[in-house]
Amino acid sequence: MRILLAEDDPLLGDGLRAGLRQLGFLVDWVRDGEAAERELRGQAYAAAVLDLGLPRKDGLEVLESLRKSRNLTPVLVLTARDMVADRVRGLDIGADDYVVKPVDLHELAARLRALVRRAHGQPQECLTALDITLDPASRTVRRSDVLVSLSTREFDLLQAFMLSAGRVLSREQLEQQLYSWGQEVDSNAIEVHIHNLRRKLGNTLIHTVRGVGYMLMREAPTT
Ligand code: CA
Repeated sequence: MRILLAEDDPLLGDGLRAGLRQLGFLVDWVRDGEAAERELRGQAYAAAVLDLGLPRKDGLEVLESLRKSRNLTPVLVLTARDMVADRVRGLDIGADDYVVKPVDLHELAARLRALVRRAHGQPQECLTALDITLDPASRTVRRSDVLVSLSTREFDLLQAFMLSAGRVLSREQLEQQLYSWGQEVDSNAIEVHIHNLRRKLGNTLIHTVRGVGYMLMREAPTT
């Protein structure tokens, strides 16, 4: 899943970006509040990690302005241990969760996964559709309890579908979720990944909606 990281501390930002990438997140990193707001308005991120003390525009101001304009991207704020008032204010104006510095990478990742699940109305730790189960934490997929080996992109694509089961996703939306800045996208990349997912997971899982996009079937059709 693709997230925006807003952190001005170069060492911490670099460490978080590298660590989260290793755990399977696609991370776009900005270093000031204005850039954070611009990117969050321009792009559909699965979630954002927002430092509160940011140059150009304070993290709390960014959050407030986003929520005022009904931008509902799940936001996790990073706060210093002694800044309880900021944390409370952040939650009050629409942050979904927070992590206290120094950041524990695995805690941050788990909280992000939980935020994204909740934002999609999926309280369970594992996502399911038909006979397929996807575990976002261990990044494993099973079909009828048998492990299926997927590439990174195939996994990310399946996860994007699972989170939005029953909704049609356009190729453009899928590309946005699968590729971060600077990653080149072949024009038929999504089609190729979908072809591979169908080959590995069965033909009935992903339904083509002609001229619009694709939709994941959570249950087998009744007719
Ligand atoms: Ca800072």
